[in-house]
Amino acid sequence: MFYNYNMCGIVGYIGKKSALPIVLEGLKRLEYRGYDSAGVALWDQGSGKILWEKTTGRVAALETRLSEKSWESHTAIGHTRWATHGKPSDKNSHPHADCAENIFLVHNGIVENYAELKEALTREGHVFRSETDTEVLVHLVERELTMGNGKVVLEDALPEALRHVIGTFGLALISKNDPGKIVVARRGSPIILGLGEKEYLIASDASAIVEHTKNVVYLHDNEMAVLTPEDLKIYNFSKKILNKSIDKIDWDLESAQKGGYKHFMQKEIFEGPEALRNVLRGRILSDIGKVKLGGLKDLEKKLKNIKRIIITACGTSYYSGLIGKYYFEEFAKIPASVEHASEFRYGNPAIGEGDAVILISQSGETADTLQALREAKKRGALTLGIVNTVGSTIARESDAGVYNHAGPEIGVASTKAFISQVGALSLIALYFAGNRGTLPETLVNKILPELKLMPGKMEQILKKDKEIKKLAKKYLKYKNFIYFGRKYQFPVAMEGALKLKEISYKHAEGYAAGEMKHGPIALIDENFPVFALVPKDAVYEKTISNIEEIRARGGKIIAVATEGDEKIKKLADDVVFIPETLEALSPLLSVIPLQLFAYHTADLLGLDVDKPRNLAKSVTVE
Ligand code: GLU
Repeated sequence: MFYNYNMCGIVGYIGKKSALPIVLEGLKRLEYRGYDSAGVALWDQGSGKILWEKTTGRVAALETRLSEKSWESHTAIGHTRWATHGKPSDKNSHPHADCAENIFLVHNGIVENYAELKEALTREGHVFRSETDTEVLVHLVERELTMGNGKVVLEDALPEALRHVIGTFGLALISKNDPGKIVVARRGSPIILGLGEKEYLIASDASAIVEHTKNVVYLHDNEMAVLTPEDLKIYNFSKKILNKSIDKIDWDLESAQKGGYKHFMQKEIFEGPEALRNVLRGRILSDIGKVKLGGLKDLEKKLKNIKRIIITACGTSYYSGLIGKYYFEEFAKIPASVEHASEFRYGNPAIGEGDAVILISQSGETADTLQALREAKKRGALTLGIVNTVGSTIARESDAGVYNHAGPEIGVASTKAFISQVGALSLIALYFAGNRGTLPETLVNKILPELKLMPGKMEQILKKDKEIKKLAKKYLKYKNFIYFGRKYQFPVAMEGALKLKEISYKHAEGYAAGEMKHGPIALIDENFPVFALVPKDAVYEKTISNIEEIRARGGKIIAVATEGDEKIKKLADDVVFIPETLEALSPLLSVIPLQLFAYHTADLLGLDVDKPRNLAKSVTVE
């Protein structure tokens, strides 16, 4: 199994065949990822010109536009965009061109410092056509080529340009003044090179090229390549030539799309750490102990006057909202409540000015959440969205918000989006806390660095995949489960139970551990296993008592506990250990074993993990 994360798609071809059909076909192979626009740039030998076309919508729409023109090219690059900066629109689609329309570039990833770069480039006279972060890249290359410092070829200009860039990129570019080649570079966003007979392909995802060649070279971070029909050269950013081995892809198209994983859900669980890195990227200013959220910048004054927060969402987003409630109360000392979006709008909510309503939705199209947003607006509350899909209805209609940048999520059961939402909520709450001075500096200085360590800690848990699969096997015969935890672990318990029921169709309930004795404990016998979430936190001893109560009634305990906890080993039938962390951040860790347990249970039962019965990915009906 290997790790393969990317935002959306890049495809390119250089060789003796007609390039455009190959690139379009490749882009279509990436359609499974979901995207909002597509575009190509190709070098036309006959005229010596570069032709480009881009449009919102599907590759088919792009194809229709292209079919009106007769283009003969053996060099082309193409892109499917999943917007992170700038709404989906024709202008914001890739490729992007420099001022003189000589250089054309496609990009996956995020340029964190694009605002500063754009300002500097504009001051120097560069004219921008889009709202994207990407466009600065092509102007930076243009600047290197026109600065008169001797850089005349793309492969010399590109590393110089990239020295200014903070963020991630997988990119490809072609130039009219330096024709007959494609130059690619990578940092944090995948680029794969496909080797054919006097032809080369490039892609961000092997599925775009497997039907043409199985021989590939994986570009690593801080590497670039220059491709001509005859030759492929790989360099580091200091222009030192690298000798890289050729790998053979031995999977078919479908497993290529899943990046070698059996299911999208499994892949997305493994993308959790990267999803967290992406939501935090550029937003934590550790040196000054502050959180920077571009999406909230203009509202700073209004946000200071907020007296109450109401979070509203559905399903998994609702559970991340429950964690958010603790953040707002603990960090920013603002009263917060969480409501199911489907209930909120019918409850005649007593909200208005001075209230902020936070809407959480992966797709940004969830009908119940959208209606709740409209209701909140009507009543005069300030509305803030936490949304993964740029330009979606909730993103458009909210007063402000924060994007998740988690990349497309395909599995119906949400996993990496949950992680990313919890990350976003922690940032927003810390931002509020910073504005109000409610959190002691000492604590801020603890939380921010720890947040940055979380992806690494999550990866440690993912290494226990096999152990958790064994656990799923052991408990496969049971029909009912209870998940319980206190404080920060209570929402995680509900999310764990939801994961299990939605993909394995087993009955599972999430409870506040302290509630067990008020009713549900009556259910417990030797056929009713309990997931106990007991990391070392402020309520640890209390949860341990609840475990004892279950044991006394013959119930089986599967515990999720902190490494080094000897006591729990004696109490529980099985334990999954997670690394030590701050209590407030522990949900980011404890949820992972639960995601994996649900995944393996459903898979072992032979169920359709990515498309569970009766469910849809984005619920656009009320
Ligand atoms: N950040 C870039 C944009 O929003 C690239 C997104 C992508 O990888 O599709 O245009």
